[in-house]
Amino acid sequence: MIKTVDIKNMSFEECRGFFASLGEPAYRADQVFEWLHGKRTASYDEMTNLPVSLRRTLAEVAPLRPPEVLAVHSSPGGATKYLIGLADGNAVETVLMEHDYGLSLCVSSQVGCGMGCAFCASGLEGLVRNLTCGEMIDQILAVSNGIANESPNRRVSSVVMMGSGEPLANYDNVLKFVRLINWKRGYGIGYRHITISTCGIVPGIRRLAQEGLPVTLSVSLHAPDDHTRSALMKINQVYPVGQLIEACVDYANSTGRRVTYEYSLIGGVNDSRDHALRLARLLGGTLCHVNLIPLNPVPETGFARPSQEAVNVFACTLRSAGIETTIRREMGGDIDAACGQLRRRWAGRPGASDPSKRRDEGGRD
Ligand code: SAH
Repeated sequence: MIKTVDIKNMSFEECRGFFASLGEPAYRADQVFEWLHGKRTASYDEMTNLPVSLRRTLAEVAPLRPPEVLAVHSSPGGATKYLIGLADGNAVETVLMEHDYGLSLCVSSQVGCGMGCAFCASGLEGLVRNLTCGEMIDQILAVSNGIANESPNRRVSSVVMMGSGEPLANYDNVLKFVRLINWKRGYGIGYRHITISTCGIVPGIRRLAQEGLPVTLSVSLHAPDDHTRSALMKINQVYPVGQLIEACVDYANSTGRRVTYEYSLIGGVNDSRDHALRLARLLGGTLCHVNLIPLNPVPETGFARPSQEAVNVFACTLRSAGIETTIRREMGGDIDAACGQLRRRWAGRPGASDPSKRRDEGGRD
């Protein structure tokens, strides 16, 4: 049996190297990349500027597996969740969100998650494995195909690495993906429209600062002190709040980019006025923006939503202290597609329905 490779998993340079290994000129990489990432062509047969013999060779050594969409659920609020099947039988979710500024895609970086944040559904069953770059490409490819069928003039214009998984724990594949979707003749997503979210892996933040890419760093903070944060997020025992904020301030200084702090408000846990005052002291004077996310309930975790009153007081307290603050627009909660609700819905679950029977369930209405 011949050993095959996944061409969607290749950076531009790797693709050039691949064609060199086949004895082909480097410009073949440009051609194939345009078909794959620009026109989203599903088969080598359609790549008409490649010699027929090369198309045959490619089909053998680098077979193209189209993304497998197992289910699509749309919510009236403007979120559409896609369940994407992977070649090994696992599945991940990706969520398309409709904003007034365009279409934003929330991409998963791992199957499951190993970070074990106490309030999040994605980590309930631990980490299964990292996604390859090609498997992240399949998420934007499947969704872009879906959009093209409905409204040909629209496209994904921003990407947030906020699906299941911890992007900085899958650093190389995520960075390869980010560079690939930025490719001008492909998805053409500007770096400023790409957000990498982390639970706070300090060495990853420091490494990202060195890449010279103007992507937005988003940090899931959720608490202003080690006591509260360690109870919610295991990672805080490795990289406590002080170290984390120092890395974020350095990131902002070296990239000139404002850091976003995500703060999920959990009723009675981290949502008091006192927490807000301490958060303001922690972040005051740094180049930042706080995004408040009222907790999306995950039944297994036992945490409660904050009251609307607590959310308002928290936001007002931060704003009065001069911290730019937004409250995340609720999206996708009705289809379990909101922050922290993504999980492997059916995969390997006892009693779960056969995914092949769930295809197109829910419809895109
Ligand atoms: N692992 C990365 C990427 C996930 S992003 C990270 O931690 O940043 C998803 C965001 O939603 C994170 O800020 C996460 O902490 C938050 N979140 C997780 N569960 C949530 C829940 N139940 N309600 C609201 N926000 C949640």
